[in-house]
Amino acid sequence: MNDLNPTGAFSSPWQRRGFVRLVALARWVLRPWPGAEDRFIDRLVADQNRRVGDHLRVHPPARVLLIMPRCVKKTGCRAPVQESLNECLVCRQCPLGDVAHLCLEHGIEAMVAFRSHIAFAMARNEQPDLIIASACRDRLVKALCATPEFPALLAPLTGMRKMCLDAGIDLDWLSDQLALAAPGPARDQVRAAEGS
Ligand code: SF4
Repeated sequence: MNDLNPTGAFSSPWQRRGFVRLVALARWVLRPWPGAEDRFIDRLVADQNRRVGDHLRVHPPARVLLIMPRCVKKTGCRAPVQESLNECLVCRQCPLGDVAHLCLEHGIEAMVAFRSHIAFAMARNEQPDLIIASACRDRLVKALCATPEFPALLAPLTGMRKMCLDAGIDLDWLSDQLALAAPGPARDQVRAAEGS
């Protein structure tokens, strides 16, 4: 466990070694049944997102870090998307174009990271108030273990053309998370919908 806590308020069971070991054991037991392991991880992710939603009601975020898998970016594209999504606003040939437009719509200046070790280093350097991440289930669990002190809203990928190639993001989910992070009426609408 590290000691990085940007707000001093977010706490989660992932900060406890015993919980992490229990999760690892449960995954090992469920591994012969991949569907069961996936459902178990989905449940952990849903619990995490609920916790983070509660946290954001009290601590509205100012700095947001988006962590996307490398395989979302169109194969062969050389745009420097870690620095800026400006090229994606015009191009829109892969999901990052939609991500760029969603950030613009919600008035969120997001930093985007791809590889896990870079994303974790960016989180430590930049101290975001909120992380929004989409990745395969195994990576989501790794993120929860690596940076448990950061509020992180998580979603598994929606599909892949091949292993680690041209993955899809749930853009409706991402839009809702960005609305939660954005100031103003959009956030209130999402919260009202969650409560109904
Ligand atoms: S939207 Fe276009 S510029 Fe951006 S990553 Fe995808 S292919 Fe590259």
